[in-house]
Amino acid sequence: MRWAQKHAIRIVPRCGGHSYAGYSTTSKGVVVDVSQMNRVHVHSGIANVGAGARLIDVYSGLTPLGLTIPAGSCPTVGIAGLALGGGVGYAGRKLGLTCDNLLALSLVTANGKLVECSPHEHGDLYWASRGGGGGNFGIATSFRFRTHAVGDVAYYQVVWPWADAARAFRAWQAFAPHAPDDLFATFYLSTNGARGPGTVPFVSSGGQFFGSEVALRSLLAPLVAAGSPTRVTVGTLTYIDAIMHWAGCHPIKQCQVVPHTRFKSRSDYINTPLSNAAIGTLLAGMEATQASTSLGGAALIFDASGGAINRVHPNNTAFVHRNALFSIQYYSGWVGAGAGDLHWNRSLYAAMRPYVSGFAYQNYIDPDLKTWQHAYYGSNLRRLTQVKRKHDPHSFFHFAQSIPTRM
Ligand SMILES: Cc1cc2nc3c(=O)[nH]c(=O)nc-3n(C[C@H](O)[C@H](O)[C@H](O)COP(=O)(O)OP(=O)(O)OC[C@H]3O[C@@H](n4cnc5c(N)ncnc54)[C@H](O)[C@@H]3O)c2cc1C
Repeated sequence: MRWAQKHAIRIVPRCGGHSYAGYSTTSKGVVVDVSQMNRVHVHSGIANVGAGARLIDVYSGLTPLGLTIPAGSCPTVGIAGLALGGGVGYAGRKLGLTCDNLLALSLVTANGKLVECSPHEHGDLYWASRGGGGGNFGIATSFRFRTHAVGDVAYYQVVWPWADAARAFRAWQAFAPHAPDDLFATFYLSTNGARGPGTVPFVSSGGQFFGSEVALRSLLAPLVAAGSPTRVTVGTLTYIDAIMHWAGCHPIKQCQVVPHTRFKSRSDYINTPLSNAAIGTLLAGMEATQASTSLGGAALIFDASGGAINRVHPNNTAFVHRNALFSIQYYSGWVGAGAGDLHWNRSLYAAMRPYVSGFAYQNYIDPDLKTWQHAYYGSNLRRLTQVKRKHDPHSFFHFAQSIPTRM
């Protein structure tokens, strides 16, 4: 870092390389790739995690000890990018965000010093590192996380016919954000099989429950009662099998392979229930992309919030989104080189503006989002700029959506 400062060379940190906007790469500087610093070990119930660990390294390092930290579902996402920006996953409603379980981190700041950040030292950097987003305040070299004991978990999937989509969504949004903390539930709409006129999208809900299958079945009653589901699956898995189930990989070795895909994804937080008009807009959007054979595959992914996530005050950490009912991701994927056809994504996203909160998840970082400062950080932006001004006054760490030194 001192060498880079001396020669005015830009430095960009990289961990898992999953930044949606490619902000962990640069054509005009040096990438500091921490991915080989990936050791995971536990001491007195605290997980010491090298800043380069991928989530599968963390999960597979902790589960043999009967422990976990709440983190994301993609096994190759890096712990650094995930934790610094929040960290949402299937254990989140019970155990909180990844950043809520961060006890301390080691950070190399812009002046080339290695500092310990915790409630007791450099408390401002500790606060900013829990939701302020990667690449803003320094290069994290290691993290200390609170761990939690885990055993088997129950899981479910419900699939509905497309004709039931609105009914199923209304039931999900009334149920999932207010369910007991032990349950994390998603809702999912996607393009399906052969496309074109006359075909219909796919609609489902899935989730993980820290409890028994029997208790989960009874909890799911209001969801299953919506419309006429074509499939209801409930089962039990060991924790590591559940991780692989949600990741869609098996065995562990396969979870270490980084697939390269082309997609555009952006997000909204929803703080009040979506009206019938808003739901109609989402469903019409899915029908439009299903009917098209030229647009790439598309999905709308809804993750329930609430539970432990929302019990933290919005200003206690830099992660401000503590009042949301759920988030929406607008996902478009395509194959082959080139930018892809983003028409669907852009027009549905625009059509949803009247119905959403104006907030978005900083880890689903979106280079097209003009209002990103407010959307990612809301009332925490001012304090983040103060921390930036103090520790990186010349914006040595800089990218298109990095925290500014002034508002
Ligand atoms: C397929 C996929 C699935 C995902 N699933 C989830 C999910 O389930 N839950 C969730 O919350 N998010 C999820 N995300 C979003 C993910 O949290 C962010 O993309 C995250 O920023 C990725 O971190 P990374 O370390 O892999 O990426 P990188 O691209 O390496 O880094 C992301 C940002 O952090 C910075 N950074 C990297 N390393 C460091 C470091 N050591 N110190 C300081 N800054 C650093 C980079 O410069 C960059 O700005 C997913 C993303 C993808 C692509």
